[in-house]
Amino acid sequence: LLEKTFHSGAKPPLGSLIEGRWVQGESTFTVLDKYSATPIAEVASATRAQVAQAVAATHRAAQAGAPAPAERARVLRRAGELIAERRDHFVDVMVAEAGFTVADAAGEVDRAVITLNLSAEEAPRVVGDVVPFAASPGAHQRMGFTLRFPVGVVCAITPFNSPLNTVLHKVAAAYGAGNAVVLKPSAYTPLTSALLAQALLDAGMPPEFLAVVQGEGDSVGTWLLQEQDVAFYTFTGSTRVGRIIQQAAGLRRTQMELGSIASTLVCADANLDRAIPKIANATFRKAGQVCTSVQRLYVEAPLADEVAQRLAEYAATLPAGDPRDPATRIGPLVTREAAMRTEQWLREAQEQGAQLLCGGQRDGSVISPAILTRVPETGRVWCQEAFAPLVAIRPFDDFDAAIASANSTPYGLSAGIFSQDIDRCLSAARRLRFGTIQINETSSARSDVMPFGGVKDSGFGKEGPWHAMREMTEERLVTFNP
Ligand code: NAD
Repeated sequence: LLEKTFHSGAKPPLGSLIEGRWVQGESTFTVLDKYSATPIAEVASATRAQVAQAVAATHRAAQAGAPAPAERARVLRRAGELIAERRDHFVDVMVAEAGFTVADAAGEVDRAVITLNLSAEEAPRVVGDVVPFAASPGAHQRMGFTLRFPVGVVCAITPFNSPLNTVLHKVAAAYGAGNAVVLKPSAYTPLTSALLAQALLDAGMPPEFLAVVQGEGDSVGTWLLQEQDVAFYTFTGSTRVGRIIQQAAGLRRTQMELGSIASTLVCADANLDRAIPKIANATFRKAGQVCTSVQRLYVEAPLADEVAQRLAEYAATLPAGDPRDPATRIGPLVTREAAMRTEQWLREAQEQGAQLLCGGQRDGSVISPAILTRVPETGRVWCQEAFAPLVAIRPFDDFDAAIASANSTPYGLSAGIFSQDIDRCLSAARRLRFGTIQINETSSARSDVMPFGGVKDSGFGKEGPWHAMREMTEERLVTFNP
């Protein structure tokens, strides 16, 4: 089915997955190749009734209880093997519908396999803890432990920029912990999620434990928020949509992985041979469409010119264009509008006095890698999430002021610092108000085992299989007074 659906709008459209069957709807939406903007597939949007059916079916399954943890772990591991076997197909699909370069798409597949294996390891361990009553005067004779139970139906709503691994951080953790899952992938990247769902089913995930409802946020997404049998919403996407979901969730639990303006600091004693390639990679990977991409780069004044120059030299070695060309390092943005918006922000910054050292040229939906210096603090490239292949550099003399500036955005997802001075690094770790502080790494050095999540308007709750499984379970205390 998926082989046939892909590459042709003329064939029957791909639809939603409910109780193990791919179903059609009443209307379709078109998936575009992100580089050529040509249609590559028609996908049937789930109807209101199908959304209700998907939630009802997964709810029944969750009530009946999931297979044993060891069996869930086996399925997750097997899905990892199948995805590895189908690597080329996943890569082709992501290159087309997400616009990733082959290297970025392959990286996404490799990480997905790791996420599945980590989730398989954790699934049998989500059991609970012993309560140390002995520490409590007057209660020392009591005994206690906690038990963890799946919450029921977990609804995962996911963004376009990580159509496989981010989806798995939700789906694998939810099922590993014994929940049933309703997934609503981004309407920009529905095909990868269909391949993923098929791999999970082929691996032996019981069909009633997984539904995929395809469609736009303002229809299918909104309907999912009206479904009271959803126990938990795990969301990755913009802060704007996160607020809508949180409001609808009421007292139900959520996990919110939201927007970001990630900062990285380079101190005068930094090892630039190490820092420059890391910063360039963290800025331009997936054309900058990563929530932890380095957008603000603070460089201690003596190094500011050298860092900008070396980054510009590096960026010149990153050809932008067709993601199918193996030489290409920067593919397109998700839409032509996103590229035009980026172009506009870069133009505005220059009008406000910024210097564009390199890049910033637009060709269709491709923007060549851009490095800006002398960026005004009021510029949109500095103050709003760019989600594009650009980095804005500002020099600093006063370390405390640089930390205060990095903290001054509404966001707090991830930050990095390069320095050989351990006091400075640890002081920064104490004072930077972000979910992650990476020393001698950029803001974007994520490994899938990490507890990953933000503070402030970047959201709350942690991903990473160990952490997400704890989020997606209810803890019950059992005490015994012998
Ligand atoms: P988005 O918020 O536009 O969409 C995300 C998902 O929400 C999509 O599936 C969309 O269809 C759905 N949606 C939209 N409106 C909805 C509604 N009213 N009700 C329910 N669902 C709705 O985000 P995007 O453009 O796909 O992704 C980019 C954003 O995601 C950036 O802000 C980026 O920082 C963020 N992001 C954050 C992290 C993180 O870990 N914090 C990771 C990746 C991306």
